[in-house]
Amino acid sequence: MTVSRPFHLMAKPIGPLCNLRCEYCFYLSKEELFSKERRSDFVMKDEVLEAFIQQYIQAQPEGTQEVIFAWQGGEPALLPTSFYEQAVELQKRYARPGMRVRNAFQTNGTLITPERARWFAQNDFLLGVSVDGPEELHNRFRHDADGEGSFSSVMRGVEALVEAQCEFNTLTVVQSDNALHPQKVYDFLKSIGSRFMQFIPIVEREHRKPGERVTKADQQAWKSLLSHTGVSERTVSPQAWGYFMTGVFDSWVRHDIGEVFVSHFDMFFGLHQGYPASFCVHSETCGNAMAIEHSGDVYSCDHYVFPSHHLGNLMDQPLEDLVMSKKQVNFGLAKRDDLPQECQNCSYLFLCRGGCPKNRLLVGDGGALNWLCEGYKSIYAHTSPIFQAMGAAHRARRHASEFRSFFRIPQGSEVGRNDPCPCLSGKKFKNCHGALR
Ligand code: SF4
Ligand code: SF4
Repeated sequence: MTVSRPFHLMAKPIGPLCNLRCEYCFYLSKEELFSKERRSDFVMKDEVLEAFIQQYIQAQPEGTQEVIFAWQGGEPALLPTSFYEQAVELQKRYARPGMRVRNAFQTNGTLITPERARWFAQNDFLLGVSVDGPEELHNRFRHDADGEGSFSSVMRGVEALVEAQCEFNTLTVVQSDNALHPQKVYDFLKSIGSRFMQFIPIVEREHRKPGERVTKADQQAWKSLLSHTGVSERTVSPQAWGYFMTGVFDSWVRHDIGEVFVSHFDMFFGLHQGYPASFCVHSETCGNAMAIEHSGDVYSCDHYVFPSHHLGNLMDQPLEDLVMSKKQVNFGLAKRDDLPQECQNCSYLFLCRGGCPKNRLLVGDGGALNWLCEGYKSIYAHTSPIFQAMGAAHRARRHASEFRSFFRIPQGSEVGRNDPCPCLSGKKFKNCHGALR
């Protein structure tokens, strides 16, 4: 049986185990969920791996041309290459005729040796490396168990990937510190060869101190933990999130359109043209991005690996039943149905959809409002006129970088240099978006 809609299942073949101790990592506390297990048990067993690969491929809707396996952790490179060799063999065995199977591998980069990098390149793996910027910004929160910054080990991994010509992108967590340095971070990522960048804002409820683990007693009290509305010191403020993304945008739009791909900008451009969101965060509903643990346990989402969002184990129930279950469908619809009035009335709803429910921490009218709302609004206001102009260029079969000649806002009337910028920044047009002309 197949599932009627495309879905994605992120695999954690070594559960939450990791060789680093990044302060904002929400995976480490998940070890507590499996507190009866020894560390050596945090490995996906052969029979679970085979069931996962077989069922994930078989459950894809009819006509699916490409299936992507996403390996994450913890740190998936803690497992030897032989584990992934076996996975690739199983993928070949179970792929439908003509179906392309690809692998994405999200890593902290510290365990990528030249030999491993060559293997990934030979097997067409797409690597995602977590890096938060140049050394002083990266090491602020990303360190090992002894408190040593991980930057130099990550860079060794990146060099190995470049040397092996292995395709890689970067994933940068935007936190309270690096958010203040958009230009520095963006330039650095370009300098290490990243041409595909993803930025993820960190929003943490303040339920634990930096480095402190969630205790067993805490597990019993998830509900009360989640009732807190405070955020940690690492959390990016809405203003800083807006400042960071608009700063990156200004550099990208001036110099790098068509050369560097920033996942948010690609998606916003598409949303302005009527395409669906490529990230669940900006989709109307959730429910199509689940997580599978090393044990075969499937959860509603990687950010909701809690007992209350456990869907079942694929060794006991077919994956398609878990994906199509009422529990999962309701989880997905809650994102749309719980939107506060502020979002329902928002002119940016088509871009935003209220963001990720886990970040809805503010008191709203009829529902919780996203912590990042104010930042999102500034990003949408700053970028929308340009994405609209890019859309006009695209429709006229011109390259997106020629958007300047289509920059007429609003409703076709030219904006004077001394007029207020239509993005509502409060600046004069010549000092805001007009400066790009
Ligand atoms: S809860 Fe957040 S991360 Fe999970 S599927 Fe929904 S939008 Fe995506
Ligand atoms: S910008 Fe704010 S109000 Fe508008 S949809 Fe997003 S979270 Fe809701």
